[in-house]
Amino acid sequence: MNKCVFLDRDGVINKDNPNYTFRVEEFKIISGVIDALKLLKARGYFLVVVTNQSGIAQGLYTREQMEECHRYFQDECGNLIDHFSFSPDHPTVSASLSRKPSTLMFEKAIAKFKIDISKSWMIGDRGRDIAPARKLGIKTIQIGDEIEENEKADYMVTGLADAVKIILG
Ligand SMILES: [Mg+2]
Repeated sequence: MNKCVFLDRDGVINKDNPNYTFRVEEFKIISGVIDALKLLKARGYFLVVVTNQSGIAQGLYTREQMEECHRYFQDECGNLIDHFSFSPDHPTVSASLSRKPSTLMFEKAIAKFKIDISKSWMIGDRGRDIAPARKLGIKTIQIGDEIEENEKADYMVTGLADAVKIILG
């Protein structure tokens, strides 16, 4: 069984952009993120990104453009991410069991990589990142200060480096 840190993408790994991030030139890696992920990797954590990419269903960008961003990040960090799981759906276009706050992206990764939920964490910046992890019994850390009353994370921090400190104790 593997221990895993699930990561939201936008606002956790790269700077969030209200107009969607899909061009490599606009994929700005947040300072300190790569070093923080290296620490998790060194301690044996699987790293799985779970990201809603509804701009694909909405026709704003293509799956290929998203994958180019992911390749760019992998090149920059030395392939630290074990798996990218994404939901292309948007409720106005296509119903989805994958799109967070639903749990299917997590459940598939848990099965595929034999993940031990009791030793795993989710780091996100929105309530909809926290809710599915909580439902599955995964410990949760929220970055930033967006408070959603019913979906409070176990821990609140200002950035990924502080989240990693909590995980590694
Ligand atoms: Mg986010």
